[in-house]
Amino acid sequence: MPEMPEVETVRRGLVELVKGKTIEHVEVRYAPIIDDDSQMFQTLLSDAKIIDIRRRAKFLIFDFDNGYSMISHLRMEGKYQVRDNIDDFDKHVHIIFHFTDGSMLGYRDVRKFGRMKLVKTSEVLANKSLTKLGPEPLSPEFNFENIYPRIMRHKKSIKTVLLDQSVVSGLGNIYVDEVLWMSKIHPETSANKLTKKDVQNIIDASNEEIKTAIEAGGTTIRSYVDSRGNSGTFQLMLHAYDQEGQPCERCQTIIEKIKVGGRGTHFCPNCQKLVK
Ligand SMILES: [Zn+2]
Repeated sequence: MPEMPEVETVRRGLVELVKGKTIEHVEVRYAPIIDDDSQMFQTLLSDAKIIDIRRRAKFLIFDFDNGYSMISHLRMEGKYQVRDNIDDFDKHVHIIFHFTDGSMLGYRDVRKFGRMKLVKTSEVLANKSLTKLGPEPLSPEFNFENIYPRIMRHKKSIKTVLLDQSVVSGLGNIYVDEVLWMSKIHPETSANKLTKKDVQNIIDASNEEIKTAIEAGGTTIRSYVDSRGNSGTFQLMLHAYDQEGQPCERCQTIIEKIKVGGRGTHFCPNCQKLVK
């Protein structure tokens, strides 16, 4: 699943490639990708110019010059591709935005889980899918005053709590494992048992991790490729995620993989001791 840094990389690629372009028409090959009426979607986007592409957590927000915005979530495997030749799109490309300059933006999604929704630009941030999101790393709201009470409210394992997008948003499975390794916190520690220092460490590590990952262009686990066809390089810097059986960089203890809240979880049993 693309995580927030990958989505940010996609956003930057899209700004470079399609910002300022005007849609001539939208070709819908698989309508369920579009939330609500796909006919209305096509009508409203004809002649619409893309004036900006924003992001909130893992949602991409395309702003058009007609007062509407498209909220797009890539879910498991969604990707955007920019092409000049229609034949370059395979059968997994379900939505194609044809631009007036002849180029095209295709949305490719093998598992068809991604969704697009058109809303009034003035109502984007009030959309239910966005209002329930917690603060995200690198934003002004991602500070101790906001995050500490959000974490303390929970008895569940810190791993599970950090994955809950209503508590903090933008940290997926890879980054939570990395953040907890950096913070030296066992993933099964009850959230409300963490110290203030632990929470500050989580905040600092999350900011650092996400910043580094964005600079590196996101991770390349599974099939992630950004809209320009570049692969991210962040997997080379992973300390815990996907490192089971390898020695911990800090103490040489073998990294273990367990399940926490149903999710594969990687940690160093020496650096990240469970505090009861
Ligand atoms: Zn260690």
